[in-house]
Amino acid sequence: MYVEDAVTTDVSSSGDMPAGSPYRRVVLKLSGESFCRPGERGISMDEVLHIARQTVQAASRGVEIAVVIGGGNILRGASFTAGNTAVQEATGHYMGMLATVINGLALQDAIESVGAQTRLLTATRMDGVAEPYIRRRARRHLEKGRIVILAAGTGSPFVTTDTAAAQRALELEADILMKATRVDGVYSDDPEKNPHAILYRDLTYQQVREQNLRVMDVTAISQCMEHAMPILVFNYRQDRNIERAVSGEKIGTLVSARKD
Ligand code: UDP
Repeated sequence: MYVEDAVTTDVSSSGDMPAGSPYRRVVLKLSGESFCRPGERGISMDEVLHIARQTVQAASRGVEIAVVIGGGNILRGASFTAGNTAVQEATGHYMGMLATVINGLALQDAIESVGAQTRLLTATRMDGVAEPYIRRRARRHLEKGRIVILAAGTGSPFVTTDTAAAQRALELEADILMKATRVDGVYSDDPEKNPHAILYRDLTYQQVREQNLRVMDVTAISQCMEHAMPILVFNYRQDRNIERAVSGEKIGTLVSARKD
């Protein structure tokens, strides 16, 4: 375990990144907040294009990428229905899932505008908008080098897209689940509120659970722990970091069964 000042995040080293990737297939979880300007809501296509370019750069290393997309920039079911008796909580969650589809459509066009092929797959059927998510079809698209965007979460209410990301990583047999966040990794406390928060470089699932660290929701952590799916939490706002992450560069925080 290292503290933040031991972390090397040298942007100038990007030209020296090793070619290729140690991974065959990754699931990349992008929160809705990566689709809007910090502190704002909705969709900023500048932000989406930034993420799209990074994702395409990462895919150019030959790694298969499935993106699981959040919707929190538009609506989260639990907070939308809290104290709001006119909308049932389950309805709010379905609204949240639809929000992820709006983001998925924006990301699809953004990625294609920078020259890569994509497929948008939704967990609930939306004929005319996107393909339905079918595991074998998703794998086939990945094998053909398409960036696959997975929207509508799991298709079921009362969970989040973190859980969807864990589930898809497992069923698509990804080598690693990468969670892109706006901070450098997993900290001992909220780094946006506590300047003394310590950044961890390696954690076990057990430590995450025991210390209640903010990585992903509890269901997602449990699923990854049960099936030994490693999770890398890293900062998407630093240019080329998605590419660094897929190239195996040691950035962010790695959560796995055992510390190195
Ligand atoms: N959601 C859901 N089931 C899922 C995934 C998402 O009901 O399998 C709903 C839930 O209300 C969630 C919202 O969709 O709050 C948006 O997803 P999330 O909060 O995970 O987005 P993020 O925080 O990643 O932007």
